[in-house]
Amino acid sequence: MQLTSPRLRAALLAAASLTLVAAVLPPPQALGIGDRLFPELGNPGYDVLSYDLSFAYKDNRTPLDAVTVINARTLQALDRINLDFSHGTVASAEVNGVPAQFESAGEDLVLTPARPVGEGAPLRITVRHTSDPRGSGDGGWVPTEDGLAMANQADAAHRVFPCNDHPADKALFTFRVTAPAGLTVVANGVPGALPALRTGSTTSWTYRTLHPMATELAQVSIGRSAVVHGTGPHGLPLRDVVPAADRQRLDPWLKKTAGHIAWMEERVGRYPFENYGVLIARATTGFELETQTLSLFEHSLFSDGSYPQWYVEAVMVHELAHQWFGDSVSPRTWSDLWLNEGHATWYEALYADGLGKYSLERRMREAYQRSDQWRAAGGPPAAPKASPPGEKIGLFRPVVYDGSALILYALRQEIGAAAFDRIERRWVTEHKDSVAGTEDFVRLASQEAGRDLTAFLNPWLYGKTTPAMPGHPEWGGPKKA
Ligand SMILES: [Zn+2]
Repeated sequence: MQLTSPRLRAALLAAASLTLVAAVLPPPQALGIGDRLFPELGNPGYDVLSYDLSFAYKDNRTPLDAVTVINARTLQALDRINLDFSHGTVASAEVNGVPAQFESAGEDLVLTPARPVGEGAPLRITVRHTSDPRGSGDGGWVPTEDGLAMANQADAAHRVFPCNDHPADKALFTFRVTAPAGLTVVANGVPGALPALRTGSTTSWTYRTLHPMATELAQVSIGRSAVVHGTGPHGLPLRDVVPAADRQRLDPWLKKTAGHIAWMEERVGRYPFENYGVLIARATTGFELETQTLSLFEHSLFSDGSYPQWYVEAVMVHELAHQWFGDSVSPRTWSDLWLNEGHATWYEALYADGLGKYSLERRMREAYQRSDQWRAAGGPPAAPKASPPGEKIGLFRPVVYDGSALILYALRQEIGAAAFDRIERRWVTEHKDSVAGTEDFVRLASQEAGRDLTAFLNPWLYGKTTPAMPGHPEWGGPKKA
């Protein structure tokens, strides 16, 4: 058969190509970047450069109206763009200024742009959506007595905003939050160029990060807060956010931070970000969290009087240490979580040791005695078991805290304190504002030790049982080969 006219031929070809597009694209599905512990977290094919998040807050029962603008670059040609997003209603989506189709698949929001986007191309995604603060307990927005805070670790940022929700893809953030007048909004980073702007009954606040940040470390505090300013080492701006009514009472704790930073800087070098402070929230989280530049603490840690001062300070140092270990240097995969928690626990324990309250050696000996049990329950430090379904923070087991600080102790025992200190300093310098994993750590440790430490470290990192502790035969454990 022969087509009778160019016009008919063109019409047929156009119809065929439409059919082709419809036929080729499979149903949208949730994708991930291959994290062993969170297979559907993150998304392939693009690198986010910046997030611009706008939220309008009314109260804790009303979903916030939100606009998320993502600037990214494609790493491959994309017919579809997956974002992680699970806890809001999407009104519209645009890709490079053109409306895009959107559908949900699992915890992914799948965009189909009008035209495929080529490899290495700029990608500007705009999603108008709500962000639902209700349904607490799984992370994301955390209700406080006077507003909201955020706790996104490990995989809950996408309950708040559409994103590439994996720490391997860090980006710059801008936050624009409108809240009823009388409430104070603070987010990671520094205030925007314009001061908070009051319009009628609401005030608009802007913040931006000066360093790239993982989605899990985003923080937005909305509440009846006092913002307390101070100065840390080398003129570092300090900024704490506390319930306004408790400011006086909390002040002695806030005054500790400058000394904590100086103490950390003596050990690992300059604080890596633009500012620091604690966010003390009247909330029940069951944890503190190292949200970048503004660590989140439960009010009860400071107020209920049941914790000794040295313990509270050591916990403050733990979150502060994360600013270097976990925030500035982010884990490449969630199996590298031990690098975050092992180091934060190490400096927490070292600080307590320095206060003369709980010696590092005793803490490590006690950890050693439990380590096999922890490994049986949670897996080896650098290959932990996935968290059970429904337990969002089930990954945060003793094996990645004291069970992993034990690896650092073993390493220091093996190579000496001087080489160990050099590793710590180089780690946070060479991977500043970046991402690193277990293999990077083993490589760096080997360089500083002047010999390949793979055979020494691998059983500590991946063994089902705990190796012998160098220098402490009296601790028991297996005989050294
Ligand atoms: Zn921690």
